[in-house]
Amino acid sequence: MNPGLPTESDPPAPNKVLVVDDDALIIGEYLLCLGNEFEPESATATLGDLEKVLFGEETDDRGAASFEVHSRNQGEAAVEAVEAAIAKKQPYAIVFLDIRMPPGMNGIEAAQAIRKLDPNVNIVIVTGSMNPEPENLGKVIPPADKVFFFKKPFHAVECRQLAAALCGKWHADMALRNANEELEQRVAERTAALQKIAYFDPVTRLPNQLLIIEELKVLIDKAEETTGDTVVILLDIERFSFINETMGYDAGTELLRSIANRLSRTFCEEGARQQTIVGRFGADEFAIMVRGVESDAAIRELAESVRETVESPFLINGRDLFLNASIGVAWHPIHGRDAKSVFRCAEAALHRSMRNLNDPITYYHNEMRYRARYKFDLEAELRGAIERGQIVPHYQPQQCTRSGEVKGVEALARWIRPDGSIVPPSDFIPLSEEMGVSDLLFESIMKSVCRDIATWRMHGDWNIPVSVNLSAHQLRNRNLVGLIKGLLNRGNINQKLINLELTETVLLEDLSVAQPMLDDLAAFGVGIHIDDFGTGYSSLSYLAQLPVQTLKIDQAFVSQLTESSANNRVVEAIVALGKAMQLEVIAEGVETDQQYATIRRLGCDFAQGYFIARPMPAEQLLKWLGGYEDTQSIKKRSIVVDIDTGGN
Ligand code: C2E
Ligand code: MG
Ligand code: MG
Repeated sequence: MNPGLPTESDPPAPNKVLVVDDDALIIGEYLLCLGNEFEPESATATLGDLEKVLFGEETDDRGAASFEVHSRNQGEAAVEAVEAAIAKKQPYAIVFLDIRMPPGMNGIEAAQAIRKLDPNVNIVIVTGSMNPEPENLGKVIPPADKVFFFKKPFHAVECRQLAAALCGKWHADMALRNANEELEQRVAERTAALQKIAYFDPVTRLPNQLLIIEELKVLIDKAEETTGDTVVILLDIERFSFINETMGYDAGTELLRSIANRLSRTFCEEGARQQTIVGRFGADEFAIMVRGVESDAAIRELAESVRETVESPFLINGRDLFLNASIGVAWHPIHGRDAKSVFRCAEAALHRSMRNLNDPITYYHNEMRYRARYKFDLEAELRGAIERGQIVPHYQPQQCTRSGEVKGVEALARWIRPDGSIVPPSDFIPLSEEMGVSDLLFESIMKSVCRDIATWRMHGDWNIPVSVNLSAHQLRNRNLVGLIKGLLNRGNINQKLINLELTETVLLEDLSVAQPMLDDLAAFGVGIHIDDFGTGYSSLSYLAQLPVQTLKIDQAFVSQLTESSANNRVVEAIVALGKAMQLEVIAEGVETDQQYATIRRLGCDFAQGYFIARPMPAEQLLKWLGGYEDTQSIKKRSIVVDIDTGGN
């Protein structure tokens, strides 16, 4: 609201006029023609008519041109009068200003000072000369619609008419201004209400992600006022969806509110010396941001206390609920200079925690930044790398544990960068899925495999099948079957030379789409193998349902085989299952002679792993196989020896 403006609740504003002239005679003239006794015979009718034209028939007291006239004889005094009137909330409607008023301010200077104080008053410059030029007044004392030129000597009627007209205009301006301000106020209130919706989480009434970042900016901006760091602690409630599903949505909501209340109570009211913000930035994710944390030890203490706060039980529906939290921590200025980057670091740390159940609190460290940067770089290059054929299969042999013969090879994707460095599939396969280029990648690997088989074939009969890995994404691609058939037909490659490896989790996705494709491929002659078997949580019924031929025991079991370990029994059980269902069993990740001996004893049909050979480029495989043929008997012998000494 503009200071000094009368509001609607104030009594109706009078027609206040300030006349300023250093000549007392002229002041007298003003008072005469603006005073209430002024009634020249010639003027009354004219003025009455004019008022009707200007303000309509039903003119009120203001329109009837009764003026409250004040006078000053110097510019400075005029400015003071305007200021005082504004302070009393009774501003002037008009100031008549003489131009020359020695020794003080001239009329122009006084007008400019008055304009600064009061943006609404109509200023009339009254002068006998044409200096300043009337047409320039608007520029000298803006705005142009509130400054007027009035020539001396003036006629009394002229002066009164002008005053009446300008007072009427002033009242109209004021009414418009009040209406605008009211409107602005309503818009501001509405905006504030909308902001509340946009910036606050309706369930917990905590700041949401948008506001969290804004608040973090403020904390960081103020960081210089205190010593210490600004710490961002993000926490995720483990298995929150489980609580929602088992106890109901209302219980989940109540739990979120309780968590929010407890966090706010514990951290926001604790100390005025540290400023703390608590917010909710995801379904079951909360942020606690604290300014002025003095040491690494204090940061750790804080993170621990966040954990304790969330992990002490919550009473929901009469039951004590015990929660586990994953926590990620990053802080300014060490991990980022601005709010967004610090928050991003805390998010990266949180994700690390969520994956690592043994360590519920992860403190961001720079290696994670390098990972993020590395991922960013790979992402920029990946599509081009696929298109340029920089991603090629290397091949790892699978050996029969009975005959010692190589019965298959697995194609494992390798990204060979132009500088010769090799990117492992664990870095770019998930990325290809995120980016939606995994189908392209699969097609490119399949093409390379077909090309390699064609090359190997030129050196003699080739009857070793190649296993190609499929990810979940490929099984959603309805063109998959057509693509594989097309490539094999075009390359004149026997279908029996291709196996597809699927993980159990792939099969969990949506069998209604995958099953017909797999049936079709199997009918065509392509083999279906289940990779990393034993790690998925799926039911075994799909084994009976799908055209599977081979199970690959996950290397996690193989790497921990000892004579009496529980893993032995897992391997045994998988072998028994395989036998019962007439499936072959491959043990993956066989690294030592000991492991080889054990899986052989437990009845695995095939072994794959560094003990036999590491994955190698296509041309090397041919050489390896050649050499292998020559030395096979020696190898077999050495294995037999090991088995014997291994207590078989
Ligand atoms: P996977 O299909 O289970 O492949 C076996 C992984 O174990 C390979 O890792 C292989 O190099 C490694 N390995 C083999 N023998 C040993 C051993 O004795 N000891 C140890 N520690 N590891 C051994 P790699 O090549 O890094 O591949 C990792 C995963 O990436 C593969 O697991 C597969 O799931 C995926 N992958 C590889 N190539 C492709 C591909 O072309 N498409 C898709 N969708 N996934 C692929
Ligand atoms: Mg595999
Ligand atoms: Mg595997």
